[in-house]
Amino acid sequence: MELLLEGKRVAENIKKNFEARIKTLKQQKNKTPYVAVLGITGDEASLTYVKRIEKNCEKYGIQCMIKIAQNQEEFIQNFKQIKQKKEITGIMFQQPLPKKIAELINQIPPEKDIEGVSDLSMGKLFMGQENSNIPCTSKAVIEILDFYKIDLRGKNIVVVGRSNVVGKPLIPQLLNRDATITICHSKTKNIKEILKQADIIIMAIGKAKFLKKEMIKQGAILIDVGINFEEGKMVGDIDFEDVKEKAFAVTPVPGGVGIVTNILLIDNIITSVEQL
Ligand code: NAP
Repeated sequence: MELLLEGKRVAENIKKNFEARIKTLKQQKNKTPYVAVLGITGDEASLTYVKRIEKNCEKYGIQCMIKIAQNQEEFIQNFKQIKQKKEITGIMFQQPLPKKIAELINQIPPEKDIEGVSDLSMGKLFMGQENSNIPCTSKAVIEILDFYKIDLRGKNIVVVGRSNVVGKPLIPQLLNRDATITICHSKTKNIKEILKQADIIIMAIGKAKFLKKEMIKQGAILIDVGINFEEGKMVGDIDFEDVKEKAFAVTPVPGGVGIVTNILLIDNIITSVEQL
């Protein structure tokens, strides 16, 4: 491996102007970024994530309101109240949510959809508009490639995983950069043969150490979105130790995509106010 694609360096570069940007918003628009996070009790991992968002917001002087409902009715009430609050500049739903509730995402005012998950935000992205409302994890992949000046034009890129938060939003972003893309998923046949053709592979399936050296070509660039736990240790979808000699560049887990994703949420929160 010639290049370790370190998320920390990318994150540092994104967050270096946060303080100045927030200050400018206060001075020029008299606005403070203020995010509301709505969820329902039950999922421990997701609540841990919410606490991390709260801590991160606090760190950068962003106001944050957390509303965790006991049931669906309470969630709907919370959402109604939050929508009426003009001072709230960004709204996000903490997944997983029951389907009926998750569909309310489309009622978030477009300019406050900081995660870019509504049908409208996703539609705009597919029509070529890249603004603040892009799902953070997919954007983190692009930020890492951009930071390390990896040219995507004409490259053969294989994305493994087709979720709404990673695989799908990556399609327009990669196309905008003139890449040739293939999306694989659990029903894809001959995945190993497809992977071996790739200049760049983006793994987002949630299967520990799935990608091995015999599946990649010499000098491939590998981006690992996966977060899995093996014997209490966090590992990605790529078997880092196995591929590191054969690949040209790899993102580590932890220390790769995840850290950039967290910072990009803050970036999206600030950008959405800048665009008001
Ligand atoms: P998801 O919604 O569960 O989607 C997983 C995708 O992987 C699906 O498209 C599925 O195919 C595909 N898949 C599963 N097994 C496969 C296999 N053996 N071969 C090929 N494709 C396979 O997951 P997600 O939310 O996108 O997350 C994916 C991973 O990224 C997870 O490990 C998650 O924890 C991690 N993640 C990381 C961050 C970060 O900040 N680093 C953020 C979000 C998620 P089908 O569509 O056919 O079922």
